[in-house]
Amino acid sequence: MPNNPLLNHSDLPAFDKIKPEHVEPAIDNVLKSNRERIDQLLASNGPDYNWHNFAQPMEELGVKLARTWSPASHMNSVVNSEALRSAYNACLPKISAYSTEVGQNEALFNAYQSIAQSEEYNLLDQAQRKIIDNTLRDFRLSGIALSTDNKTRYKEIMQELSALHAKFDENLLDATKAWTRNISDESQLTGLPDSAIAMAKQTAEREQQDGWLFTLEFPSYIAIMTYADSAQLREEMYTAFVTRASDQGPCANQWDNTPIMERILTLRHEEALLLGFNNFAERSLATKMANDTQQVIDFLNDLAQHSANMGKQELDELKSFANDHHGINTLEAWDLMYFSEKLRQKKFSITQEELKPYFPETKVINGLFAVVKRLYGLKINERHDVKTWHDDVHFYDIFDKKGQLRGQFYLDLYARPNKRGGAWMDECIIRQRSNDDIETPVAYLTCNFSSPIGDQAAQFTHQEVITLFHEFGHGLHHMLTQIDYPGVSGINGVAWDAVELPSQFMENWCWEKEALALFSGHFETNEPLPDEMFEKLLAAKNFQSGMQMLRQLELSLFDFRLHLEYDPKKGPCIYQLLDQVRTQVAVVQPPSFNRFPHSFSHIFAGGYAAGYYSYKWAEVLSSDAFSLFEERGIFDNDTGIRFLSTILEQGGSREPMELFVEFRGREPQIDALLRHSGINV
Ligand code: ZN
Repeated sequence: MPNNPLLNHSDLPAFDKIKPEHVEPAIDNVLKSNRERIDQLLASNGPDYNWHNFAQPMEELGVKLARTWSPASHMNSVVNSEALRSAYNACLPKISAYSTEVGQNEALFNAYQSIAQSEEYNLLDQAQRKIIDNTLRDFRLSGIALSTDNKTRYKEIMQELSALHAKFDENLLDATKAWTRNISDESQLTGLPDSAIAMAKQTAEREQQDGWLFTLEFPSYIAIMTYADSAQLREEMYTAFVTRASDQGPCANQWDNTPIMERILTLRHEEALLLGFNNFAERSLATKMANDTQQVIDFLNDLAQHSANMGKQELDELKSFANDHHGINTLEAWDLMYFSEKLRQKKFSITQEELKPYFPETKVINGLFAVVKRLYGLKINERHDVKTWHDDVHFYDIFDKKGQLRGQFYLDLYARPNKRGGAWMDECIIRQRSNDDIETPVAYLTCNFSSPIGDQAAQFTHQEVITLFHEFGHGLHHMLTQIDYPGVSGINGVAWDAVELPSQFMENWCWEKEALALFSGHFETNEPLPDEMFEKLLAAKNFQSGMQMLRQLELSLFDFRLHLEYDPKKGPCIYQLLDQVRTQVAVVQPPSFNRFPHSFSHIFAGGYAAGYYSYKWAEVLSSDAFSLFEERGIFDNDTGIRFLSTILEQGGSREPMELFVEFRGREPQIDALLRHSGINV
């Protein structure tokens, strides 16, 4: 297949030549040749497997697949078409079958194990050893080292769990769809913004109904809860929403997730025991930065203790506001968001629309580059000779202080039809050394900002600027790595409670006046963001941050303790535990019919089981890392270079805690996050 551009890996992907019909043949080709190569590596090198005859070639096989798949899967996301989507979907099961096959291959496991036990292992460098260790860990976590009986049981558990996860989401989806509320009397709509009313009208028309139709889909629900003046309507909506897929509320017992949740918890516990852990929380931490379960519990309790007063004060403020201005004596659960929004509007009258003229595209992009120049000495130049998938896409080279090319990236900023929503960084090429050649890492940075109108340059909201800085942080982690082995270079092999460190870290510069002067400037006058607007922006950022913190901690503690304290003799005690956690941390006690866990997909259907704490964990890391810049100056070059060499360049080659300590001089502390959230320590 000499003419398939997806198989040419000697240069950047030829985006002008890649066609949907190239995708499936290219993947078939790589999967076939990878399979043959694995067999050959196993047959010709055993039993004396070593890094060079086995682990390194295995790394290269991974890269070959990634390099073939990356442009195809990226194009599927950003220039989607019928043909591309069907080619993409045809490949998914093939790739997944291949990964399962590799992950369950005992001969591969044995080969890696023999390297780990060989004398050579101690002569390998840290990154190489980390790859061997991670690979063995993942093999073990997939049950490969179990006895035959246990292996069979393990597979049964995994199959049942995956069906239960899907069923949990299915019930939730059905329950969400089943309930709607039609409004025929226009006076009931008071308070709602025009956009929400128009959406409800359109929904009614779609369902061939008169009037306005509200559903439990998030945008519809949240509009009612935030803006509807009718308390009765809010109560109805709230009751339906928080009882979805449960034994309570208007659709009680029709899609009750209770037995599914209990079975999931029981099976996860059994899985953990089979793999040699004491509980599923320990199993979850096997791949994370946190050392042990006690550390996570202490961490969450500590944050909760420090946020409690602030949360109570905020609730009191809300209560007196509702009382003084609206004559409300008791705040019900369905009143909270509504009065919070009224209070927010009263205190901070600033909108993202007002900020946009201060963030024209060129100013923001050049300002972002100026920030990383001051921090890390990077020089970023645009190139015009690179073929991309769309005219709006730009391409850049990153050079370091010594003038060495360190990375390259595509920047695709605007929303357009056939482009997936959201913002993300993805890997196009991963850094690796083969023979004496270094492959330069390449990233895709994708956003969905508003495109330019007419001849005027695009203008961004402050929120969009934050998003750009965030994704650029991921990009730097990927592109500035100095690790030569793909398995732990860049973001690869980084524990997921640590992977958001470089991205959230970059966001901090969006809240610093000195930095804002670099990337804000009115599109007509070039005047930087005025002080008065900046102060408002800052104050609005921390509105009710104590209450929000406590809510996240309630979810994190509930999730973690649920998996940690599971006792097979008692079975799952979901609501008992939730009550305990709420008594400890919540400032707002929801009504007794509230069945929030029945829709907590993150932990019952997604990958966040005993891992929801990761959100707060990563925030603590990024805030605490930034606090060193606050101490020494937000553009202090020495601190910048230290962050570059201890965090950004190291990828997943070492334990994240070790790297953090090397940068910060100590283990992470929560003080900076509390301070950045406006919570007094
Ligand atoms: Zn991120």
